[in-house]
Amino acid sequence: MNAAHHHHDAKLSRNQSEILSCLRKAKEPMSAYAILDRVRVSGISHPPTVYRALNELMEKGMVHRLQSRSAFIACGHGACDGKFAFAICRLCEKVVEIPLSDADQAALLSLAPDEIAPEQVTLEIAGLCEICRPA
Ligand SMILES: [Zn+2]
Ligand SMILES: [Zn+2]
Repeated sequence: MNAAHHHHDAKLSRNQSEILSCLRKAKEPMSAYAILDRVRVSGISHPPTVYRALNELMEKGMVHRLQSRSAFIACGHGACDGKFAFAICRLCEKVVEIPLSDADQAALLSLAPDEIAPEQVTLEIAGLCEICRPA
């Protein structure tokens, strides 16, 4: 997976790369405070610094937010265009990112009622992963 996102990494600030590599190493969703704890050793010690870098990484499509648990996770594909859903194991919190096609996303957005103009859709599927599923 590393080769795929090199051209993106080149443009990252030091704080952004610290936080991105922390999330990539974790391979699981992390709260902003858990990230802060982990990057403190690299000299990042203020919550606003973490939030700013997270927002910038989300704009680049390299980090996504798991709405249902207020946590952040590195993009499963290096970076993407924001069309994705998540499947989450409700026992071990394993997260798998599912790319959505334009048609998938359009179909989801079209569920919005007339009184709400749709801008964005968040889809999280909960279930059990192979390891947590009873045999
Ligand atoms: Zn992604
Ligand atoms: Zn599981």
